[in-house]
Amino acid sequence: MRRTLKSRRLGLWLALAAVLSVAIGLAGFARVERIFLIRSAQQSQGTLRLAVAGLRGALSRYEPLPGLIAEKPSIKLLLGKSADPDLIDAINLELKKIAASVGASDIYVIDRSGYTWAASNFDQPHSFVGLNYAYRPYFQQANEGALGRFFALGTASLKRGYYFAAPVTLLNDIIGVVTIKIAVDNLEADWQGADSEILVTDQYGIIFMSSRPEWHFKSLQPLDSLALAQINASRQYQQENLGLLDLQKDTLNEAGVERFVIGAEGKRENFVTTSLSIPEAGWTVHILTPTTAARAQAYTLVTMAVLVMLLTALIAAFMLQRRARLFERIEVQRSAQALLENRVAARTTDLNLANAQLLQEIEERKLAEQQLRKSQSDLVQAGKLAALGQMSAALSHEFNQPLAAVKTYADNAVTYLDRSRPEDARENVGRISQMADRMAAISKHLRNFARRPQEQIGPVSLLPVIHDAISILAGKIRDRNAQILFDPPAHDIWIMGGQIRLQQVLVNLISNALDASPDDHAEPLIIVAIEETDSRVRIAVRDQGPGVSEQVVGQIFDPFFTTKDPGHGLGLGLSISYNIIRDFGGQLLTTNHPEGGAVFTIDLVVAEHIMGAAAQ
Ligand code: ADP
Repeated sequence: MRRTLKSRRLGLWLALAAVLSVAIGLAGFARVERIFLIRSAQQSQGTLRLAVAGLRGALSRYEPLPGLIAEKPSIKLLLGKSADPDLIDAINLELKKIAASVGASDIYVIDRSGYTWAASNFDQPHSFVGLNYAYRPYFQQANEGALGRFFALGTASLKRGYYFAAPVTLLNDIIGVVTIKIAVDNLEADWQGADSEILVTDQYGIIFMSSRPEWHFKSLQPLDSLALAQINASRQYQQENLGLLDLQKDTLNEAGVERFVIGAEGKRENFVTTSLSIPEAGWTVHILTPTTAARAQAYTLVTMAVLVMLLTALIAAFMLQRRARLFERIEVQRSAQALLENRVAARTTDLNLANAQLLQEIEERKLAEQQLRKSQSDLVQAGKLAALGQMSAALSHEFNQPLAAVKTYADNAVTYLDRSRPEDARENVGRISQMADRMAAISKHLRNFARRPQEQIGPVSLLPVIHDAISILAGKIRDRNAQILFDPPAHDIWIMGGQIRLQQVLVNLISNALDASPDDHAEPLIIVAIEETDSRVRIAVRDQGPGVSEQVVGQIFDPFFTTKDPGHGLGLGLSISYNIIRDFGGQLLTTNHPEGGAVFTIDLVVAEHIMGAAAQ
C-alpha cells in the first residue's frame, strides 16, 4: 500500500519532470534555433562574399570599356559631323566585333539628344539604332560628363542588363555617349545549383537578379509612389512585371541577419539571410540559406537537452527514491533498536525487580534457615530432654521395682531374725542379693549404651559370629522350646565390622524374635538367613510373631522404646544395635514378612580383598 503510494508519487514526479523538460525545450527551442540560424547565416557569408566578388569583378571588367570606345576617331567623327551612312555601317560592324570579343550584350553610340546612331545589334530584330535613350539615367549621367551606370530591363531586348556609359568628347565638348550593356543572365548562371539562394536587390528593394527566376522584379517591401515615378521615368522595369514578394521577415540580430519566410501558405520556404551591398552598382546582394539544417541542429540539440533533463530527472528520482528507502530503512532500524532498547530496559527492570526479590528471598531464606537452625537446636534440646525423661522414667521404673523388693525382703529378713527364723531371713537376704545383681546388670547395660566401644572395625568372619550368638541364647531357646533354622553357606563370608558388637546385635535380634514368638506355638521357628550380592551381605532374622505394627515402626529404633512389661525390657536393644550397624557402614532395617512375623535385616559391607588375603 505504502509502496504503491510511493511509486505513484514517483510516476507523478517523473510525469511532471517530463512535462517541465518538454516545456523548457519548447520555450528554449526558439532561442536555440535563432543561435543556429545566425551561425548558419555567418557560415554562408563566405559564399556571399564570393558572389559579391564575382559580380564586382565582372562589372569592373566592363567599366572602362565605354570610355575606351568613346576615344575612337570614327565615333567622334560620326557624332561630330553629319551622319554618313557608310561610316555608320563601319561603326556598326566594329561595335559588333568589339561586343562579341568582350562578351558584352550590346554596345551603342548615342548623340546628345539621346538618339542612337550606331549599335552592335544593328542587324538584330531589336536593334537599338534609331531609338532614343534620353530617358535613361546612364545617358543623362554620361551626357553630363560623368561615367553612367545603370541596370534595367532592356526596353527593346526585354533582357536585363547592366549599363556603363561614357561621354564622347571633342575638344573638351561632349558630343555624344557610348554605352555598353552587359547581360546579367550569365552572372546568375554561376549561382544555380548551390545550397543557398542569391539575390540582388536595387535601391528600392526590387529583386533584379536571383538564382530563382520567379523572384525577378519582386520587391522585398512595398514601393512608394516616388519610387514608382522614378522607375517609370527611367523605364527601368516594365511596370506589369513588378510585384511584392510574398515575404515575412524578422530580424535575428543587429548584424542584419534576418529570417525570410517566402511563399504562400502551404508552400512556404524558410531562409536565413544576410547581405552585402555593392554601393558603386547600387546593389545589395543577399544570400538566403534554407533553415532546414539549422532547425534540424536546433531540434537535435533541444531534443538532446530534453532527454538529458529527463535522464537527470530519472536519475534524481532514482536517487531520491534510494535515499528515501535508505531513510526508511534507517527509520525501521532506529525504531527496531528503540523497541529493543525498550525491551532491554523493561527486561532490565524486570531483572532488577527479580534480583531484588531474589535478594529479599535470600534474606528470608537466611532468616528461615536461622529460625530452622534455632528450631532444630530447640528440637534437639527438646529431644534430649525427652530422651532424658524417657530414660529417667525407664530407670526409675527398673530400679524402683527391685528397690521395693529389696525393702520388702530386708523388712522380711528383720522380722524373720526377730522371730529367730534365720533360714527364712537368709532366703530373703539371698533375694536381696539377686535384686542387687539385677540392678548391677541394668547399670552395665546403661554403661554399654553410653560408652563408645574400644573395638576397631575390620574384616570379621560372619558364620562363627552367628553360631556363637545362637549358642549364647541356647538356654533361652530351650526355655521357649523354640527352633533356630540357620542354613549357612558352604563358604565363609567376611564382612567389615567388630566381632563382639556384631554378636551383640545378633543376640539382641534373636532374643527379640524369641520374645515376640507366641507362647501358644508348639515349637516357634526362628529363621536366620544369609543373602549375598557382590559387595554386600544381608543377614535376616525372621520370627513368627505379630510383626511390627505401623504405629510402632517409626520409633522402634528410638532409645528406651519398649512394648514389653516392666522388668522385661529397657528399650535399648534395637537402639544400640542400630547405632552399631551404622558404625560398621551398614544398615539395620525392619519389615513384616508377607506370611506374618517380623523380619530384621542387617545389611553389611563385604570385606572382599581382606577375605582374599586371609584365604592365602
Ligand atoms: P526391649 O526388648 O527391651 O523392649 P528393644 O529395643 O530390643 O527393647 O525392643 C524394643 C521394642 O521393639 C520391643 O519392646 C518390641 O515392642 C519391639 N520388638 C522388638 N523385636 C521385635 C520382634 N521380633 N517382633 C515384634 N516386636 C519386636
